[in-house]
Amino acid sequence: ANTATAGGPCRRRRRVLLFPLPYQGHINPMFQLAGLLHARGFAVTVFHASFNAPDPSHHPAYDFVPVPEGLPAAGPGTVVETLEHILALNGSLEAPFRERLAALLEAPGAGDEVACLVADAHLLTLVDVAREQGVPTLVLRTGSAACFRNFVANPMLCDRGYLPVSGESELDAPVRELPPYRVRDLMGADSSGRHGHDLMCKLLSRAVEAVRASAGFLLNTFDALEAADLAATRRDLAGVPVFDVGPLHKLSPASSSSLLQQDRSCLDWLDAQAPASVLYISFGSLASMSGADLAEAAWGVADSGQPFLWALRPGLARGAALPDGFAAATEGRGLVVGWAPQEEVLAHGAVGGFWTHGGWNSALEGACGGVPMLCRPCFGDQMGNARHVEHVWRAGIALDGGGVLERGAVEAAVRRLMRGEEGDGMRGRARELRSRAAAAVADGGSSRLSVDKLVNHILSL
Ligand code: UDP
Repeated sequence: ANTATAGGPCRRRRRVLLFPLPYQGHINPMFQLAGLLHARGFAVTVFHASFNAPDPSHHPAYDFVPVPEGLPAAGPGTVVETLEHILALNGSLEAPFRERLAALLEAPGAGDEVACLVADAHLLTLVDVAREQGVPTLVLRTGSAACFRNFVANPMLCDRGYLPVSGESELDAPVRELPPYRVRDLMGADSSGRHGHDLMCKLLSRAVEAVRASAGFLLNTFDALEAADLAATRRDLAGVPVFDVGPLHKLSPASSSSLLQQDRSCLDWLDAQAPASVLYISFGSLASMSGADLAEAAWGVADSGQPFLWALRPGLARGAALPDGFAAATEGRGLVVGWAPQEEVLAHGAVGGFWTHGGWNSALEGACGGVPMLCRPCFGDQMGNARHVEHVWRAGIALDGGGVLERGAVEAAVRRLMRGEEGDGMRGRARELRSRAAAAVADGGSSRLSVDKLVNHILSL
C-alpha cells in the first residue's frame, strides 16, 4: 500500500496541517480526513480557532495549534450572522495563523516535514497565508458536489435574475441551468435583503477562489451518488485535481470530534426496538426552530403513533421545551436525548426513518444507514440537499422550509415515510444508496481509489 513512509526507511514522515472551519458540520469531516491520512502514515497537526475548539485529549496522536481569533465567544444565530462570522473569522485568524505557521515551519526539521495544509473552503484568507509561506494547500468543501456547482454558478444565477429573489412567487420557478434546483433551493435564496445577498455572494465567490487556487479539491461525496455533478465540477475546475473521498465517516477509523457529549444510552434503547420501526429526529448543530414549530413537530410525531428517538439539542428552540403532555402521550415508545452518536444511530437496524434538517453530513449519514429521510431544511445548502433526497435519490420527502409546521402535515409525512408501499419504495432506494456507499469505500471502490490518488498527490507536492 502507498503510505506516507513508502519511500523507504530514510524518508521522513510527512506532516499534514489541517484547519477546519469551527462548526460541527465542518469539524467532523475534517477530523475524519485527519483519521484517514493518519492511518496512511501522515503526521497530523490541527490548527484551530478558539471558538468551538476541539478537545486534544480525544486525539492523542495529533498535534494541536490553537489560533486565537479574539471574536466574541457566542456563535452566530441567524443566516446573516453566520455569513458575517465566517468572514470575520478569516480576518481575525489571519495574523495569528501567519505567526504560528511561520513558527512551525522554522522549528528545526519541521519545515522539511510539512507536506501541505488542508483548509476548509471557507478559509480563503488562510489559504493565501499558507501560499505566501510556500505551503501547498488542498481545500476541503464539506458540502455536496451539486452544492459546489451552485457556488460556481452563483454569478451567472445573479446575472440571469434568479437571485436575489424578488418575490415569493419566484421561489418555485425551476432553475433550468441547474436541475433539479428550484429558486428556493439555491444558496442564498433565503438570505434576506441586499446585505444578506451581498454577503452570500462574497462567501461563495471566496470559496470558489480558494478551490481554484488550491493544489487539490476534496469533496465528501462518492461517485455513484453524484457522478454527473462530480464530472461537471472536474470540467469547471480544469487543472485542479478533484478527489471524491466520501463518505469520510465510512473510510476513517472511528473517532469523536463531537463538541457536545453524545448520549450513548440511546443505542441500548434502540437494541430493544423492532427492526426499522424507529423514526430518528435531529436537526443538526446550528438550525433552530420556534417554540410553536417545536410543539407542532412534537404533536405530529406523537399523533403518528411511531416509535421515535429525538436528539433534541439544547438551544434548538431558543429555550422552548417540548409541550406539556407530550411525554405522557408518547410514554413507552419514545426517547429524547440532548445529542446522539448519530452515525451509529443511523446505522442501527431499529432505525427506519430519519427526520433531518438536511445538513450534508446528515444526508450522507442517512444514505449510508440506508434510511429514508424526511427533510425540513432551514438554511444554506439544506434546501438543495432536501431537493436531491426527494427528487434525485427518491429516498425521502421534503417538508419545504420557510412556512410554519403543522402537526397534521407532520403526522401524514411520518406515516408516508415509515409505513406503506410508498415508504417501502423510499426505504428500498435508501438501502440501494447504502450498498453503493459500501462499494465506494470497499477495496477497489471509487472513493478508496481516490484516497490512494490523494495520498500519492500529497506525497508528490
Ligand atoms: N450530530 C451528532 N449528534 C446529534 C446530531 C448531529 O453527532 O445528535 C452530528 C452528525 O452526525 C453530523 C453533524 O453533527 O456529523 C451535523 O452536520 P450536518 O452537516 O448534518 O449539519 P449542521 O450541524 O452543519 O447543520
